[in-house]
Amino acid sequence: MLAERYPYYLANRPRQPNADLPVTDKYSGEVVARVAVADAAAVEEAIAAAVRAAGPMRKLAPYARQEVLEHCVRRFHERAEELALALCIEAGKPLRDARGEVTRLIETFKAAAEEAVRGGGELLNLEVSKRTAGYRGFTQRVPVGPVSFITPFNFPLNLVAHKVAPAIASGCPFVLKPSDRTPVSALIMAEVLAETALPEGAFSVLPTRLEDVGPFIEDDRLKLLSFTGSEKVGWDLKARAGRKKVVLELGGNAACVVDREPGADLDFVADRIAQGAFFQAGQSCISVQRVLIHEELYGALKDKLVDRARALRAGNPRDEATTLGPMIDEPAARRLEGWIQQAVARGAKVLTGGGRRGALLEATVLEGVPSDEPLCAEEAFGPVVLLQPFRDFDEALRLVNDSRYGLQAGLFTRDWSRAMRAWDELEVGGVIVGDVPSFRVDTMPYGGVKGSGLGREGVKYAMEDMTEPRLLVLRQG
Ligand code: NAD
Repeated sequence: MLAERYPYYLANRPRQPNADLPVTDKYSGEVVARVAVADAAAVEEAIAAAVRAAGPMRKLAPYARQEVLEHCVRRFHERAEELALALCIEAGKPLRDARGEVTRLIETFKAAAEEAVRGGGELLNLEVSKRTAGYRGFTQRVPVGPVSFITPFNFPLNLVAHKVAPAIASGCPFVLKPSDRTPVSALIMAEVLAETALPEGAFSVLPTRLEDVGPFIEDDRLKLLSFTGSEKVGWDLKARAGRKKVVLELGGNAACVVDREPGADLDFVADRIAQGAFFQAGQSCISVQRVLIHEELYGALKDKLVDRARALRAGNPRDEATTLGPMIDEPAARRLEGWIQQAVARGAKVLTGGGRRGALLEATVLEGVPSDEPLCAEEAFGPVVLLQPFRDFDEALRLVNDSRYGLQAGLFTRDWSRAMRAWDELEVGGVIVGDVPSFRVDTMPYGGVKGSGLGREGVKYAMEDMTEPRLLVLRQG
């Protein structure tokens, strides 16, 4: 069960001036908790506190940052089931997926605890000519200062962790606005952070109305904005972000290529594609949306994928047997249902699924979707997968790149020269050979090109953005 009311956290402390934001159970639609909402004055207070905390955070020794992160790891372990239940209720995630996200939250904080004491810098050889004989350079990485984070609904814990944990490891105070649809899990994380020895003002977690969120983006006292969310919002925010660095983790319509010799049996390939497409009701930025299958395998793999989709058990995410939960809300499911109907009107064929009950959309497999239909060209962000045959590998690569997005791509092949070609030629942030684009480990560099974003997350890579090299030059006289 959730608590009835949750405070926000301003400058490390809970405050409950109101309980204005209702949080719904995404399966039943019932209001299950109320959360305090920060107004413009609270946002200003949080930013001012973060600015004051920049010095103490910079001075917090690496081992002390590590201790903070290790405390969180212990507490997340102890509170794992409560966190999983919060995700299950507020995001509509099947319990088993919710538990998986808590495991990844813990892994992300563990990785940050390790990175916190690694740090270091470089020794530079500056003796590049006679003119500079006797000069040596060194760099150390220093935190950029206070930073701001805005996060989406689909992984309300782990995507928050991908910003918060590297910020602590780097020594950056932060202000965070979680998704207003899933604020509870981030507030439980804040409760744990409040138990630590972080300097006063080091963190604020503030559910905030959009009309008051401007300073998170525009205030130049904040040195970096890290945003995870939809494409349009992300690029709009970048245009308003002033002098600060901007990291954007946005959407995609990820493709997976199944080559003539996939290098794995088709049952494994079908299992992985079904997992990649329907996990979390397809609401993942690297969900498998487009499957490009060599024509020789097309019929066989199509049948297996249809079987996998039909075998899913849709229903209440709290039921342990449920494998397909609702989408975030009914309008989202209606939007996708509309795209399916529109594609069908232009000749696409629904192989299974297509039906909807409230926010629950059936796992849907289609073929023959025209490439300019929203269902193919836009981010579906739901439990839908499109199949398309190809004849030769060049055509497959071209089809993957025929997208304004570029987050990750998957490729099943046993041919290493094709794997290398895909790595070289696909316009994406990462190529996953032998698995689906949805594969992610929280320490790997993760992010997109083209419409999918800017910059990389993955603990160590996020820390590169949250720190900058400071140079020391020594002349040996
Ligand atoms: P969203 O863009 O609607 O919202 C994301 C966050 O931005 C929320 O906190 C929201 O309240 C806030 N927001 C919305 N409009 C704003 C505005 N005008 N000014 C300031 N803040 C604003 O996205 P969503 O629906 O919560 O999440 C789904 C999207 O996130 C999908 O497009 C998905 O692909 C993307 N996503 C990307 C990644 C990644 O790592 N690349 C990961 C998860 C989700």
